Order: sequence, then structure tokens, then C-alpha cells
Amino acid sequence: MSDYNWCHNPDCHKIETQSRIRGSGDNKVLRTVKIRVGSHWIRNSIYSYFCNQNCLHSFLNKFRQEVANIRPVKEPSETPIQVEKTKEESYRYRHNDNGDYQRVPYQATRMTIIAKNNS
Ligand SMILES: [Zn+2]
Repeated sequence: MSDYNWCHNPDCHKIETQSRIRGSGDNKVLRTVKIRVGSHWIRNSIYSYFCNQNCLHSFLNKFRQEVANIRPVKEPSETPIQVEKTKEESYRYRHNDNGDYQRVPYQATRMTIIAKNNS
């Protein structure tokens, strides 16, 4: 594997930033961003192929149908869980017309999701 990739957003080279300018004189261009994949974090992330979130999402939007076809989802998946409900004291803030507010206690219900042992 080489130590860099070119950003995979097909429109990366159309984004006007100083960092994309290459060439000299009258032969200047905006060039696709070169991504260094030296670090462990970059190598193991989607950002080894996209220079930033904007380019990633532009790509996903442009190729959304192809991306969805990589692993079609025809029905929902489910994860068995248990739900534990507990009561606890909490507060709401009641705002007055004069801009003040008042802490008002109430009994809140907290739901905690407990994973079942899925084998
Ligand atoms: Zn890019």
C-alpha cells in the first residue's frame, strides 16, 4: 500500500481553497487533495480516502444508490434487550415573564437498556 491516497470525492479538485492550488504563473490548477495515510488512525478510517467530511458526504450523496447497493437492507434488524426503569428526582426550569426562572422538581423515569447475552 502506498503512503498516500487521492481524495475520492470526484469534485474535490473543484473546491476553491488555497491548499489545492498547484502550478505556477498562468498554469495554475486546483488539484485533488493528497491524503497521507501514515498514521494508524488515518489508515484505519474512512478518512484515508476522503480529505474531510465535506468530500466524504459529497461522495456519499453523489453515489448514494451505489453505496446502498453494496449491502442492501430489505428489513430491519433487531437486538434483544432488557429495559430497566428507575424513578429519580429531576428538575425542570419554569421561565417567568421577567426573564427569571425557577427550578421545579419532578419525578423522572429513566430507562436503561441492558444488553442480553446474544450468542
Ligand atoms: Zn477532498
